[in-house]
Amino acid sequence: MSRPEKGFVYLVGAGPGRADLITLRGAELIRIADCILCDKLANPALLELARPDAEIVHVPKRIGPGSVTQEQINQTLVAKALEGKTVVRLKGGDPCIFGRVTEEVVALNAAGVGFEIVPGVTAAIAASEYTGIMLTDRRYSSQVAFITGREADGKEDSNIDWEVLARFPGTLVFYMGIGALGRIAERLMACGRAAETPVALVANATFPNQRVVRAPLNEIVEACRAEKIEPPALIIIGAAAEGDSELDWFMTQPLFGRTIVTTRDAAGNVEFAKKILNRGGNPVAFSTIAIQPLTDGNEFLRVLTHLGDYDWVIFTSPNGVRVFFEAMAALGKDARVFASNRLAALGVKTAAALAQYGIKADFVPTVFTGRELGRQLVAAANLNGKKVLSLRSELATNDLVEVLETGGAIVQDVPLYTAVPTTGDAEPLRRQIEDGQIDWLTFASPSAARNFFDAIPPELANAGRAKVASIGPVTSEQLNKLGVRVDLTAAEYTTDGLLDTIEAVERGDGS
Ligand code: SAH
Repeated sequence: MSRPEKGFVYLVGAGPGRADLITLRGAELIRIADCILCDKLANPALLELARPDAEIVHVPKRIGPGSVTQEQINQTLVAKALEGKTVVRLKGGDPCIFGRVTEEVVALNAAGVGFEIVPGVTAAIAASEYTGIMLTDRRYSSQVAFITGREADGKEDSNIDWEVLARFPGTLVFYMGIGALGRIAERLMACGRAAETPVALVANATFPNQRVVRAPLNEIVEACRAEKIEPPALIIIGAAAEGDSELDWFMTQPLFGRTIVTTRDAAGNVEFAKKILNRGGNPVAFSTIAIQPLTDGNEFLRVLTHLGDYDWVIFTSPNGVRVFFEAMAALGKDARVFASNRLAALGVKTAAALAQYGIKADFVPTVFTGRELGRQLVAAANLNGKKVLSLRSELATNDLVEVLETGGAIVQDVPLYTAVPTTGDAEPLRRQIEDGQIDWLTFASPSAARNFFDAIPPELANAGRAKVASIGPVTSEQLNKLGVRVDLTAAEYTTDGLLDTIEAVERGDGS
């Protein structure tokens, strides 16, 4: 994309909350921006898309009286653009719905800076679709009004006509209205709206901590106080607010509202978090492990020079594949190093990692332990007298090698990487466990379990309401050794399997 000399400003809607509800265009612009001015309501996770050298400016959610801060934002936008930068002004929801875009555009025009507006999913639309509240259902609402709650407090120049709103025969959606909820309800009722009109408050729409509170118009203030609803929240008024349980797909997910701690390495936690979010759960990452390549060692470099001698090469994890090919890239080599070998991969995930480097594994058993892989490989291929190279974690158990050797193979087991404990600050998590805010602690390897319970006392896990879920028998055994009560071991030894089993327990049809 060519960049005008003067710079350019993109006014981008970040979507209502959940990061992946942004548009493709919005995401692409964040990727290329030199400078991003980010609203508090825009999900900060979106900034992970930005270039590492992009300048990030956080601007406050609430604009103070006198518009001083808005004026400063306008000036910053103009100044950054005049430096020749590609600027993204990232705003929550849609940039133009109660977004003060006009003021920003006037400033840009005055300075002769070009701009583009990129729509986003506005909070009202997302809140309705994530709660089963249909804003326009032909049975009871053929019209919908978006209203700012900011003008409910008797503002002189308010152009809200309460008489009209009270008679409005469709759905009313108030943005920024939680602080003025009492006034809004009073005014509508004073103008003749029925006290029993259904109202729904939707807070943190599309996030794992989304909440809905329902009450009639004359009781909603008390309900809001009792349930401690805080902004950001929308007020939805009218028959639609009753909701339709048939349409409620989000909060009825088995993992909805469940806070699940992941304890893998940083990259593994990110991958796991996506799966948890996709099932409606609330992931909390606690890294216990950092993957440290051992590919600088002499043993590895020696093996590389004789790769052609091996009949079979075995990879047992995506991490191993990644570490191996990163080492190859550093040496100026690629997948052709395996031109004369047959390759076995433990499980489809490892095979998929190989595929990313252009390699189709010759043998991919759908098993999850090294021992099973060994057994199946021995059964499938005649390994008698064959040379087998296993490229794995230094911490892997010896089962695989034993089984292969029993099958007659001459095995060389070379550690590609090790997992070193990382020592993050455990205090916040310890407090969350103590306070009963954690539903599940998950463990995907014995080393994760060991490192975790070095930082957090096992008694804490045993005493609290958090349940412990393990990915497989080896990890469960480790947890038992540490004195930790294991509530569940996954039926299938993958992170998906782990979540399947947790879901089954949450639904009440598992053990
Ligand atoms: N431009 C934004 C709205 C900005 S005004 C949009 O299109 O969504 C800010 C108000 O939006 C908040 O006070 C709240 O009423 C609403 N809002 C924004 N995000 C929300 C969310 N995730 N859940 C509920 N309400 C939200």
